[in-house]
Amino acid sequence: MDNDNWIIDMLKEGAGMDGDSIKAAVKKKLDEFPSLTEGAALKMIATEKGITPIKKKLRISDINEDIKHLNIVAVVKRKFEPRKVMIKQTPSTISNMIIEDQTGIINVVVWDTKKVEQIQKEASEGDTISIVNAYTRKSMDGEHYEIHLGTGCAIKIIPKPNDDIRPVDNVNKIEKISGITDTQRRYIVGGFLVRLFTGGDIFITRCGICKKRVVGTCEVHGEKAISKTMLISGILDDGLSSIRISFFDKVADKLLSISKKDSLEDKLNDISFGIYNLEITGVPNKFNNVISLNVRDIKPASYLL
Ligand SMILES: [Zn+2]
Repeated sequence: MDNDNWIIDMLKEGAGMDGDSIKAAVKKKLDEFPSLTEGAALKMIATEKGITPIKKKLRISDINEDIKHLNIVAVVKRKFEPRKVMIKQTPSTISNMIIEDQTGIINVVVWDTKKVEQIQKEASEGDTISIVNAYTRKSMDGEHYEIHLGTGCAIKIIPKPNDDIRPVDNVNKIEKISGITDTQRRYIVGGFLVRLFTGGDIFITRCGICKKRVVGTCEVHGEKAISKTMLISGILDDGLSSIRISFFDKVADKLLSISKKDSLEDKLNDISFGIYNLEITGVPNKFNNVISLNVRDIKPASYLL
C-alpha cells in the first residue's frame, strides 16, 4: 500500500476520511471486486468521493509503471523537429522532446497535432513545461518509460526554468552529431531516425575480399567473392543537427530486429516512424567533403542525449 500513500493522503485531505474508514472502504471494495488491487480500489473510492485520483507532484524518477493520468512539471532539455508519419493509414504529425528534472530525464512522444504545433511555437530548451493528464508507456528497450501526450492532455509552457526543478548537469558519454569530424575514431551519438531510405533495393552487391561495391563481378577476385549485403541508410537527428547514417549486414539486421513487426517491409515502415530514441556507435566516413556515419553498433537508447 506504500505506493498508494498519495491517494490515501488525497482521501484524508479531500474527503475528510481517516485511516480506519479508508481501510474499511477498501475492504468493502475488495469483497465486492476480489480481482482489484488495493490501489485500484483506492482510486475507485476517490472517484466516488468526487476526487480525481491523479498523482500530484510526481517526479521523473517516480515514473516506473503505466500511468493513465500523469501530471508533471519539468524542463525542456531537447526539442525535436516534427515529422510526418502514418498512423493507421492516416498521415499525421508527431514530435519528440526530452524533458528533465532533478531526478532524471525522460523521452516525451507528442501524438496530438495541436500540441506538436504549440510546442514548436512556444517551447525553447530550458523552458519549464507543465503537463496535465498525459500517460506513460514502456520504451522500446523495455527498461525505461516514456511520457505520451495524446489529445486528452494539456500543456503549459513557462519561458524559463523553474528553480525548484532545475536539473543538475549530468556528465555523459553521448556526443553531439555536430561534433563528428574525425574519421580516425569512433563516436557514440544519440537521436531519432527521422528518415530511412527504403524506396529501392536494400541489398547491394559487394566483393567479400576488397569490400567494394561492384556491378556483376569483381574485376580482381571474380565471381566467387561476390556477396549480397544488406544496406539501410537513413538520417539520424539529435535535435541540434543531423547526419546521414548507413547500416550494413549485422547492424542492419540489428536495426530491423528493434521492430516487432514480422515482414521486412513492415519493419522498414515501422522504423520509419522515427519514434525510437537510438544510441549509435559509428565511424565517420568522408566523401566529397560530406561526413556520414557507418554504424558499428546500435541499441535503443537511454535518454542521455
Ligand atoms: Zn574484390
